[in-house]
Amino acid sequence: MSNQNKLYEEVAQSCSEYCPCGCDNSVKNVSNGNDSKGCSCLNCSHFDSNHHCSLDLYDQIVNNI
Ligand code: SF4
Repeated sequence: MSNQNKLYEEVAQSCSEYCPCGCDNSVKNVSNGNDSKGCSCLNCSHFDSNHHCSLDLYDQIVNNI
């Protein structure tokens, strides 16, 4: 399970279409370096309720990381 969550994070970090739905209003909680925490398909607006990327990018990206 946590491996899957880690994969979601890695995919989101590599994804050019990553679009966080809940986090973009809280401006800059992140100041030092690359904040990988919170960046995940799980909070991407393209991720649907069936845990499927509506842009079909997940599989492509996961094969490249
Ligand atoms: S859900 Fe899709 S668009 Fe969103 S970060 Fe994951 S792969 Fe990218």
